Amino acid sequence: MSVSKKNVNPWALTFAVYPVEPGERNKSMIENRSEQLVFALSKGRILKETLPLLKEAGIALLEDPDKSRKLIFPTTRDDVKILIIRATDVPTYVEHGAADLGVSGKDVLLEHGGNGLYEPLDLNIARCRLMVAARVKEEPVVGRLKVATKFVNVAKRYYAEKGEQVEIIKLYGSMELAPLVNLADRIVDVVDTGNTLKANGLRPTELITHVSSRLVVNKASMKIKHQRIQEILTCLERAVEAKKER
Ligand code: AMP
Repeated sequence: MSVSKKNVNPWALTFAVYPVEPGERNKSMIENRSEQLVFALSKGRILKETLPLLKEAGIALLEDPDKSRKLIFPTTRDDVKILIIRATDVPTYVEHGAADLGVSGKDVLLEHGGNGLYEPLDLNIARCRLMVAARVKEEPVVGRLKVATKFVNVAKRYYAEKGEQVEIIKLYGSMELAPLVNLADRIVDVVDTGNTLKANGLRPTELITHVSSRLVVNKASMKIKHQRIQEILTCLERAVEAKKER
C-alpha cells in the first residue's frame, strides 16, 4: 500500500528510518575520548574518603579542590581527569557517559534508580543509614502520614512495600525542620551519629537501609576501556580490603 506524502509526519519518518539505540550516543561520546578516563566525584566526605583509595591506583589530584573554583581537575595520571560535582549528579554524569566512573552513595543510587550503571564495588566509605525519623514527643497522627524527604523515590517504595498510604513532601535540604513546624510527621533522611536528629527533638524510628559509597561505571566505558578500568578496580578492591584489615 502506498503512503500519500500528505499524511506522513516527517518526525515519525526520521525516527522510523534512523532509530537511535539507547546508549549509542553515549558510546560514541566515550569512543571520542577513548584515551581519557573521567572520574566523577562529589565534594565533602566522599571526596575526602575516596582520594586515599585512588592514591593506591596511582591517581592523585594535582590541585586542592577546596582552593579552586575549577570543576575539572587534572591528576598525576595524564589519562585521568576528575570532575567534582554535586553528589546527586554523579549517577547522571556516569550513566550518560560524560564520566566513565564515579563514586556515589547508595542512598543517591537508590533514589536515582541505577539501571543504567554498573556498580562493581562497595568502597565501604561514607557509611550511614537511610532512616525514618519522628518527633520525640508526638501526638497520635490523625489521617494520612506526611513524610518530608529529598529521597522521594526511596520513600515511595518503602511505604508502598509496607502497604501504607502516605503523603510524600519533596524537600531539598534541612529535612529535620519539617516536623518541627508541622510540615510533616516523619522525615526520611541519612543518619550517621544521630546528633542532628537529637538536636532537633527527633529520633530515628525505622531503618530503611544501610548506606556506603559505591564505585559506579558507565556500561559502554566498561566495554571500550575494559583493561584500564579493570586495573583501577583491582587496585581499589585491594585498598578497600587493606583498610578493612587495619
Ligand atoms: P549525623 O548528625 O551524624 O546523624 O549526620 C547528620 C547529617 O549529616 C545528615 O542529615 C546528612 O545530611 C549528613 N550525613 C551524614 N553522613 C552522611 C553520609 N554518609 N552521606 C551523606 N550525608 C551524610
